[in-house]
Amino acid sequence: MDNPNYRDSILFVEDVALPDIAAQVGTPCFVYSRASIEAQWNRFDRAFGDYPHRIHYAVKANSNLALLNVLAGMGSGFDIVSGGELLRVLEAGGDPRGIIFSGVCKLEWEIRDALKAGIGVFSIESEGELDLIAKVAGELGCRARIAVRINPDVDSGTHPYISTGLKRNKFGMPADQAMEIYLRAEQLPSVEIYGIACHIGSQILDLGPFRDALVKVLEVVDMLEDRAIAIGHVDCGGGLGIRYQDERPPDPSDYAGQIRAVMESRPVRIPVAIEPGRAIVGNAGILLTAVHSLKRNDLNRFCIVDAAMNDLLRPALYQAYQRIMEVDRGSDAEPQVYDVVGPVCESGDFLGKDRLLRVSPNDLLAVCSAGAYGSVMSSSYNSRPRPAEVLVDGKDIHIVRNRESLRSLFRDESMLPSDRETG
Ligand SMILES: *Cc1c(COP(=O)(O)O)cnc(C)c1O
Repeated sequence: MDNPNYRDSILFVEDVALPDIAAQVGTPCFVYSRASIEAQWNRFDRAFGDYPHRIHYAVKANSNLALLNVLAGMGSGFDIVSGGELLRVLEAGGDPRGIIFSGVCKLEWEIRDALKAGIGVFSIESEGELDLIAKVAGELGCRARIAVRINPDVDSGTHPYISTGLKRNKFGMPADQAMEIYLRAEQLPSVEIYGIACHIGSQILDLGPFRDALVKVLEVVDMLEDRAIAIGHVDCGGGLGIRYQDERPPDPSDYAGQIRAVMESRPVRIPVAIEPGRAIVGNAGILLTAVHSLKRNDLNRFCIVDAAMNDLLRPALYQAYQRIMEVDRGSDAEPQVYDVVGPVCESGDFLGKDRLLRVSPNDLLAVCSAGAYGSVMSSSYNSRPRPAEVLVDGKDIHIVRNRESLRSLFRDESMLPSDRETG
């Protein structure tokens, strides 16, 4: 099912008309479709068929508890990058053994929390990190399962900010250094070598870089096997792109099929892990916003809306395109080309440029493909409360995050003690 979609002239998410959500919850708000999330997760799952595999949803794409809970209920594993994400997964009922802990800077308290929770595996990014994990595991009297994250030095062809598999990026270890880490890990009693990992970037639109990275990772697996070090899983990371405009990303089934084909060319079936984030939730969500006013100058027409870069940062941060749809396409307003901009005091505050829209003040717009890297990147810049979040399930609306309250914006702040007499 495509979400959102028009019924007559009104835009729906599943069986709910977006004007009903705006009336009930207000704008701006994020609206997600449970059915879309489940369908996309199932597409990945089915594509591996009987090949041993596990999907570890990348929590950083959208960490709302309700979404995590839906995915936990489907048996999903999780890929986390912080102690905060760990707590969210546990709170949402995720299986700790299905958690992969990634990221270049795991702090000691995060490692301790993860070991206490009994997570599945740490993806190691440096020798120093291995030593820290070994130390904490030793103190707790447990063994930490580790995988080394390889930097395969492949160009994923994506935006430089979200490319992670090039030699110059901070992520992973080159193959030769990775071997040294494995040999060192073998000597550490509080560490168990469990797997190998890579993750080359995000919004990747070709299968080629995924294949090249996997082949490089498997070269390291061969070296390890030569030294009788067995690998329990090959973690291919996330990064499969989605359609924002007119991109033609590979289908999850082609993506998984390629991994399966490469893995099946080996004599032994090594289980596979993948860590998709954007590809599962990206197109399952929209940002619903209301038109505040229209204005023009000599160069441009502006459609000023009540959502801004603090709610949805991708357009400002990456010059990312996200489709903007009229919630009621039956408007009789004149079609005009607008820059769709928000209230924040920055010229970088736009949600879309040069968009042909038929709109009047108070009309609703849906900014599409906002399920991933939307609410998680939101801030309260300009002291704007973060938006509400809604999960649609059939014809039911669930508010899964309340709009931030104004007082909570400064709840954790304090003023200096007053040390002067007033008066
Ligand atoms: C960000 C990230 C992912 C998810 O990337 P998507 O592009 O959202 O699929 C997976 N694994 C790791 C290690 C990441 O950092």
